[in-house]
Amino acid sequence: MNLIDTHCHIYASEFDVDRSAMFARAEDEGITKMLMPAIDASTHEHMIQLEREFPDKCRAMMGLHPGSVKENYLEELRIVEEWFEKRPFVAVGETGLDFYWDLTYSKEQYKVFQQQIEWAAQFDIPVVIHSRNSIDECIGMIAENQKGNLKGIFHCFSGSVEQAKKIIDLNFYLGIGGVLTFKKSGLDCVVEQLDLGNIVLETDAPYLAPVPFRGKRNECSYVKYVAAKLAEIKKMTIDEIANITTQNAIKLFNL
Ligand SMILES: [Zn+2]
Repeated sequence: MNLIDTHCHIYASEFDVDRSAMFARAEDEGITKMLMPAIDASTHEHMIQLEREFPDKCRAMMGLHPGSVKENYLEELRIVEEWFEKRPFVAVGETGLDFYWDLTYSKEQYKVFQQQIEWAAQFDIPVVIHSRNSIDECIGMIAENQKGNLKGIFHCFSGSVEQAKKIIDLNFYLGIGGVLTFKKSGLDCVVEQLDLGNIVLETDAPYLAPVPFRGKRNECSYVKYVAAKLAEIKKMTIDEIANITTQNAIKLFNL
């Protein structure tokens, strides 16, 4: 089995106690690559250090999370830009809009998202999008900016079939994670109607653990529960699901 976790915050302090055991479990389950979205300057160094330690397994993105867009957002953006000047990254992100927790900086979130979309186009790398309570707004931003070469993922997708189709029409992928295994999410019925050609798997570890670990700390090895659920929905084998979604990730991220 060859699985890729396209979205995991494994540099988070939640893993400080047992990170190498967690890595070993991921390896046992056939997770060959773990792609790490950035959050903000408080975690960039730790993320990049982890990539240095495990260069063929862990790959870093660079960006500013919408939840970290605060009064110092220009300084945070400058730090992101400096990193892009220093070295290549596998993607821009995670970025996007989060209207769930706090609307204080929603205007700034748009500006920060726009800047990161432009970097993704400029560097010709994917943009990884966080769209909490803002999926239509994020689709609108991508539609406005899609001039041909923009690509990326709507991470933790949990929208409707119509939203999924718009995203796919924009040449973007859907990041499917633990929510697929939640009983009342309805995501199973949505995914059933979608082609696998635009789906990649993710955990969003340490958050959003799939059933049977819902509510606990999530980790990369659990991506297999998402793959298993997807196999059940699509009436395919888990190996077929692993193959298709891994190829999708390799193509998108140029791994
Ligand atoms: Zn994330």
